[in-house]
Order: sequence, then C-alpha cells, then structure tokens
Amino acid sequence: MEPDIKNTSPDRKKIFQQSKSIVIKVGSSLIIEDKQGAIKKQWFASFIEDVIDLRKLGKTVIIVSSGAINLGRKILNLKDSELTLEQEQAAASVGQIELSKEYQEHFKLKGHICSQVLITLDDFTNRRRYLNCKSTLKTLLKLGVIPIVNENDTVATDEIRYGDNDRLAAQVASICDSDLLILLSDIDGLYTESPKKSEHAVHIPFISEITEEIELMAEGPENNFSHGGMKTKIEAAKVTTSVGCNLIIADGQKSNPISNISEKKATWFLASQSVKAARKKWILNMKSLGEITIDLKAEKALKSGNSLLPVGAIKCIGQFNRGDVVTVKGEEGQIIAKGLASFDQSETGMILGIKSEDIPSVLGYNRKPELIHRDNMAFFN
Ligand code: GLU
Repeated sequence: MEPDIKNTSPDRKKIFQQSKSIVIKVGSSLIIEDKQGAIKKQWFASFIEDVIDLRKLGKTVIIVSSGAINLGRKILNLKDSELTLEQEQAAASVGQIELSKEYQEHFKLKGHICSQVLITLDDFTNRRRYLNCKSTLKTLLKLGVIPIVNENDTVATDEIRYGDNDRLAAQVASICDSDLLILLSDIDGLYTESPKKSEHAVHIPFISEITEEIELMAEGPENNFSHGGMKTKIEAAKVTTSVGCNLIIADGQKSNPISNISEKKATWFLASQSVKAARKKWILNMKSLGEITIDLKAEKALKSGNSLLPVGAIKCIGQFNRGDVVTVKGEEGQIIAKGLASFDQSETGMILGIKSEDIPSVLGYNRKPELIHRDNMAFFN
C-alpha cells in the first residue's frame, strides 16, 4: 500500500515552477529498444518536445544522455557478449556520434541549437579543467544552447571513470548551480525494498534527509542495460541536495516523460536549502587564500548587490589562483565578504584600480570584467 502523502507533501508543482535551471538524465533503456538496439523514435521525439516546452517556460536545460555504448554495440554487431573495456570504448565512439546526430536532427528541426559535451571524471578533479568545464556549460546556457552531456567513454578507462551517468549528472547539476536534477529511469522512484522482489515494497514519495536506512534500500542495477542502479541515484542525490539542488527519480518510459512531472508518481529528494544559500555557506566555510582590499565606494557597491570591479580594488595579497576563495576587506581592514576570485593573484595585482574595459590591454587577453562576480560572493552577517 502506498503511504498517504496528501497532507504532508511539499508543493511539487511550486518547486518545479521555481526551478529555473534543470538537468535531465536519460537512461539508456529509455532511448534504445531492448531487442533491436535502435533508437525509440516516438519516445525520443516526445522527450525533445518536453525539453522544448521547458525552454519555452524560460528554463535552461542540460541533458545528460546515456546510450552511446548500447547504440555502438548494435552498429558493430557486438550485441550478445559481455564487452571488454576496449570494446566498450570502441562502441561508445561509434554510438556517441549516432546519439548526437539524433539529438541534433530533432532539435534543429524545431529551431533549437544543441551541443555535445563529453566529460571524464578527471575534468572534475583537476581544478583548471573543472573551471573550464563550468564556464563552457554556463556560456552555452547563456547562448540558449541545450548541452547534451555524456561521459567520454572512449578515453575513460576503469580507474578514471564514473561508469554511470547518475553521478555524472549530479556533478553537472552541481557545477551549473542547477535547481533541479531529473533522473529519468525505468522505475518510478525509491521503494523500501525491491518491488520486483517483494509485494510489501512501499514507494517513498519524498526524502528530505538521506539516512543510512535510505541508503540500505538502494540496490545495484537490476537490468543489463544501464550502468547505474538505485545506489548511484542515491549517491547523486547526496551530491545535489548538499548544494541546494532538488532531485527527482521518475519513470521515463512513457512518452512525454517530463510533462506534468509534478503530478506523476516519483521520488523527490528535497534540498534543505536553496542553491544560493548552500553556495554562500560553502564559500564562507572555504579557506581563504588571499585578501583584496577595496575602497569605500566599492564597499557600498558590493553591499547593494554589485560585483567587485578592479576599479574599486586598492591592494591584494596572498597566493591564490582563479577560482580560489579570497577575503574582501574594507579600507580600515575590516572583513566584508569572501568570494571566488576571477583572476589569480598576479593578474589581480596588475589590474588593481583600473577600469574593466582596460583589462585586455593590461593583461593581453580578455577574461572577465570583475574581480569577484556577485554570484560568487558571500557576506559575513
Ligand atoms: N555513458 C554510457 C553510455 O553512453 C552510459 C552510462 C550509464 O548507463 O549510466 O552508454
């Protein structure tokens, strides 16, 4: 029996409406036919329709799409046997181009631009690559593009591999400051035990804290198609909810899997705080690697919600790189805020006190107009 959720349920519709930046992960088994290994054309078209509807509502959408390996298997006729890592890499190489082509054709037909972004685990552990990945995705979204992300399975070996797109999607949602990650799967959420094995399994509609008990409910993958299972979905939820992003595990098997999602049976993992609040807390907790002293005018500008521009900066000390946390101090030495530096320490030193439009002529390249963007700043209350 399903628990009665009528009185206790949070307003899913409202949460969905308020989500401006959405990441959708699509499992392989949704896109590809079980037997023929071909793309499920009708389902695929309906999914694209749903994504376009979200764009029309003004939301940004990133799709994390599986399917490359299974498509490649079919094309290479490697269907029946278990694949070696090398065969998987080769299958991914063949399948990825096919998968991208499918997305591109569908979106183009409807007047939308999509792009391909292939990521490895390394891209998130190496700071420079992490920052590049983040700014590329954010730039694509600003340009109105729909990025289609997958793991770069062709070069990812076992040691440096996610192997499942659930956790990859969570990392993507986290670096893009998304409000919502939807994991479209072949099951409508988390149950107290496997519904395939027990008739006593109870569906859980909402989770606001991932306890040990919840983790124990998760099992490994149950079909031979996807690489993730409930376990990797819970891992994904741990990542997203800690950065203020809600996560839904929903059954995506029927056509138009996203439309009316807040009315469908699913499991919602609710973040305890907003993306902004989680980010602020994170910045304030990070070790500061430098200091930027600013003048009174800049202090006032910052407090009324503006970014920190080089023109208002007087001094900088410390050893910091782009993306590191630095402390912002006032003329009297009082601590005002902490923020993520847009430039490293030597660059910051060179552009102190100058107008943003002069940055390219001083540095010889154009990066950003501000030393710290307002979204990357947290004030001490
Ligand atoms: N990256 C794999 C692929 O495209 C899928 C991994 C997964 O199923 O989560 O085939």
